Amino acid sequence: MTDVAIIGAGTAGLTAAIYARRAGRTVTIFEAEAPGGQIINTPEIDNFPALPGVSGYEYANKLYEQVQELGAEFVFDKIKKIGGSLEEGFFMTGEYGAECEAKTVIIASGVKRREMGLAGEQEYSGRGISYCATCDGAFFKGKTAAVFGGGNTAVEDATYLADICEKVYIIHRRNEFRADKALVDELLSYSNVETKLSRTVSAIHGDEKLTSVTLTTVDGHDEELVTDALFVAIGLIPDNEVFKDLVELDAAGYVVAGEDCETSAPGVFVAGDCRTKDVRQLVTAAADGAAAAIRASRLSQSL
Ligand code: NAP
Repeated sequence: MTDVAIIGAGTAGLTAAIYARRAGRTVTIFEAEAPGGQIINTPEIDNFPALPGVSGYEYANKLYEQVQELGAEFVFDKIKKIGGSLEEGFFMTGEYGAECEAKTVIIASGVKRREMGLAGEQEYSGRGISYCATCDGAFFKGKTAAVFGGGNTAVEDATYLADICEKVYIIHRRNEFRADKALVDELLSYSNVETKLSRTVSAIHGDEKLTSVTLTTVDGHDEELVTDALFVAIGLIPDNEVFKDLVELDAAGYVVAGEDCETSAPGVFVAGDCRTKDVRQLVTAAADGAAAAIRASRLSQSL
């Protein structure tokens, strides 16, 4: 039985692994995709202490290597079932058949991007519609791209695309961006960027590929925006359905916990973006990983 099972190998999960391994605990980390989490798609991290300008990919790789060197066991599978208790131990199984028993669990499953819910969204996904500018931006070199959203992700995506594309539109439902001022100022310094504020994307058009989208203004007027690509960055949603019988989730699906990262189930901790919190940043994900792992390590050692 492993001392600490960690679900998710993003910043929160990998930081938890560092602390748990350094506390001498055995650690098994489940990851459904590639290690590194969301930050892997960030071109440049400018707000992590002492690491200005490092790419998300480089950061994530270093973190992954650090955890591998510390001797944590990685299992690449998506948890499909989890249960148990602190008294009897926890068990989990993956979609590809991986199994694990653990004394304590740290949920660090992160979040995924919210979809628009429009007709044609799935059909044109990968044919003009994308949820990752750093993954797919290069396909639109010299072309026109639109970004939908007004938060840090959307503004960073649009800035990244402004260096690649001939023209970039940023569409946001309000007349003021939610993103940090420094990021907005940088974006607006590009001459090939045009804002489409107080508008939402209301329809998607294309033939084999996306050709345009309909924008609807707050006062109900429609306009067609011709574009080769639409990058959707309208926020994040948790993917915690599998944990709903194990721990308390809030109405939006986040695992309920405070700064101590303790969930409603003794022995189960939560770290990073998937928990209820105000500030979802790399640095707070790392802080959660440490808090959860220190508690899980102490507890598993006492059993
Ligand atoms: P976010 O901050 O939640 O912003 C989502 C944006 O999408 C908001 O502008 C929101 O509009 C809009 N939106 C939400 N639902 C919508 C809908 N149904 N239709 C149209 N627009 C919709 O999400 P995010 O930008 O992905 O960032 C997530 C978290 O990661 C945040 O805490 C952010 O600070 C953090 N992050 C930080 C950095 C960084 O520090 N460099 C980079 C990326 C992300 P309203 O503004 O009107 O609500």
